[in-house]
Amino acid sequence: MKQMKHHIFYISLILGLNFMTSCQNVQKKQPEVSKEVKQEAKKKEDKHWSYQGETGPEHWAKIEKNTECGGKYQSPIDIVGAQSDSNLLPLDIHYSSKTKIHNVTNNGHSIQFNFDPGDYIVLNGEKYELKQFHFHESAEHTIKGVRYPMVIHLVHVNKNGKYAVLAVMAEESRVNSESFDFLESYLPLSVKETKDIGKSFNMNSVLPEKKQYYTYEGSLTTPPCTEGVQWFIFKNPVDVSLEMIKELQEVMPVNNYRDIQPLNGRVVKRSFFTD
Ligand SMILES: [Zn+2]
Repeated sequence: MKQMKHHIFYISLILGLNFMTSCQNVQKKQPEVSKEVKQEAKKKEDKHWSYQGETGPEHWAKIEKNTECGGKYQSPIDIVGAQSDSNLLPLDIHYSSKTKIHNVTNNGHSIQFNFDPGDYIVLNGEKYELKQFHFHESAEHTIKGVRYPMVIHLVHVNKNGKYAVLAVMAEESRVNSESFDFLESYLPLSVKETKDIGKSFNMNSVLPEKKQYYTYEGSLTTPPCTEGVQWFIFKNPVDVSLEMIKELQEVMPVNNYRDIQPLNGRVVKRSFFTD
């Protein structure tokens, strides 16, 4: 018995030593690599777009080469003089009540939730899959000049890479709805930080109850500012607590919204189906 214990001790000592050696190896190698990576990242960061100063929205077209940020049909816009269109039907939304949310990440531009695929909308018979949703403070689109304190963008893509984005305006309220309590519980989140979630979430709960909308064709509102994006901006806002708005404000870049862009002849339509 004594002999065996001795053996075990010996084996674990060897393992322990091995482990220590490999740790040291890793430690030795890592600083060199990460230094290079950091320098490279820093170089990129220097020119990378932001929401302020020399790399702010008015310079995106110049600093972000090979993007459409200087294009003619950009977003966001001020929604004014929208034409009512009785052909616009309620949006065909297929969101699960139990979407599994993997994690939330602070990508330095916004707070973004990542989840299992499976939620989608259907536009003109085509499926557009929900890829991610994120926040802007203040809202990006204005409605007759009015800017809401916050907006949620739900980004969808079809099989050909064409985008459709739903925008849900948020209004300050005394309390959050339950769903926003859930989202808020993963804040604060520092830049580049990702928090695991691994829980189900009713994706429908971020949408307003009444779903009349404005629609037009524009672009992504961050580089590469890709055009040909079908926008759907819900007319009615959802309630979000002042506390959540403040918490998001603290972890996102100040004013992470792009200013309104010229319409350049585009027409904004407004749904008016019976709901
Ligand atoms: Zn957005």
